[in-house]
Amino acid sequence: MLKFYNTLSGQLEEFQPLKTGNVRLYICGPTVWSFAHIGNFRTFAFGDVLRRYLKYKGYNLTHVMNLTDVDDRIINEAKKAGKTIDEFTAPFIEAFWEDADALGIERPEIAPRATEHIAEMIEIIEKLLENGHAYESDGSIYYRISAFADYGKLSKINFAGNVSGASGRVDNDKYDKENANDFALWKLVDADEPTGWDASFGRGRPGWHIECSAMAMKYLGETFDIHAGGIDLKFPHHENEIAQSEGATAKLFAKYWLHAEHLKVEGETMSKSLGNYYTFRDLTRKGYSASAIRYLLLSVPYHKQLNFTFETLDGAVNTIERLRDFRKRLSESNLKDGINPDLQEKVKNYLTDFEAAMDDNLNTSQALAALHNLVREVNTALAHEVICTEDRSLILHIIDKFDSVLNIFGKVKEEILDAEIENLIEERQAARHNRNFARSDEIRDLLLEKGIVLEDTKDGVRWKRK
Ligand code: AMP
Ligand code: ZN
Repeated sequence: MLKFYNTLSGQLEEFQPLKTGNVRLYICGPTVWSFAHIGNFRTFAFGDVLRRYLKYKGYNLTHVMNLTDVDDRIINEAKKAGKTIDEFTAPFIEAFWEDADALGIERPEIAPRATEHIAEMIEIIEKLLENGHAYESDGSIYYRISAFADYGKLSKINFAGNVSGASGRVDNDKYDKENANDFALWKLVDADEPTGWDASFGRGRPGWHIECSAMAMKYLGETFDIHAGGIDLKFPHHENEIAQSEGATAKLFAKYWLHAEHLKVEGETMSKSLGNYYTFRDLTRKGYSASAIRYLLLSVPYHKQLNFTFETLDGAVNTIERLRDFRKRLSESNLKDGINPDLQEKVKNYLTDFEAAMDDNLNTSQALAALHNLVREVNTALAHEVICTEDRSLILHIIDKFDSVLNIFGKVKEEILDAEIENLIEERQAARHNRNFARSDEIRDLLLEKGIVLEDTKDGVRWKRK
């Protein structure tokens, strides 16, 4: 049974999607003003594991991740560079996808950009103005948190009594607000400012929080299953998303809220402002592989802090090498035909352990432990020569299952495939010899699934890739 720690309820809860078999997921995406650092990628790698495991469980998934391509920083940096905001963000958007692809992070089904959804944001702000959840002050529009009784339900901060300067990243800007925690939905811009949009309530630009409400509801509906992001977004960003969306619709916005803890460096959060960060590119330039970086990011469960050190990254490099060598050796070993039921039972139990770990709020470190236990068991079986061809097929299949979620074995698969094919062809020949045509057909289909076409010629079996 899949369970998540839901920040909204403050409890570990069984996951039950709103519509049977379907999951609608929103993950806050990057602000594309610079290269993402590996702290950011810890959150996106968690999002990837979440997405992959939901698919592993058989759910039909719609995953949306926005790109924040307008905010004060982007506007200022673009100005400094003498570019439009589109020109300024374009290379960072490209770099983000390149890095994410290299890290084996699957792309979401929908990746909308904030600047392309201004009309949807305006529509929500109009609703909030109409129903008294928002007000105008000095040309800007603010959310009135006192009009939303549930404000604070996610972060568990008590806002009763008009608390000023409560903890968190409060939007304390220069504008006039009724309450210090009221936040900007729409910011007035100067007439000569090139970045601005016309709205019924004046020309301006959107606040950061409103973009996620608008894009999440546009693509996933007013109520959806899971909303996720880094822990720093819990307050005020996600609290404000809830206030805006539920203030406009009077419906539950998202059922489960998942937050990834931070990647730290010597006890401090890795961040651009502290200057203690490494981008993915900094690390690959030093010769670290994307798989080792991914392994490191997944080695600690997402809800626990992870301390970055080069020592642990070097450890991840060795682990990845060991895992890949193992799979290669297993694929290429000369094994006798047949089956070892005892070994089969044991490796199936490791798959059960893996699923139990992932079901338990995506405990990736336990899931990796299950993989390492499997490797140890199979290495022993190889050393004692108690592993047969059918066991190998099962083990490779189970490793593929692990890897459909962890994605750490990488493209080595292509290299080892030749040996795997030869072994299967041999097994098929033996099956045909024994007039076991069902098995022989099964192997032909299995190979076909992997894109391998067999051709029976008078000189024996030939194979080619489709
Ligand atoms: P940003 O590009 O700043 O909007 O951040 C993108 C994502 O990275 C957000 O979900 C943040 O919460 C997350 N994030 C930022 N710093 C860290 C960190 N040190 N560790 C993990 N996630 C982080
Ligand atoms: Zn967001």
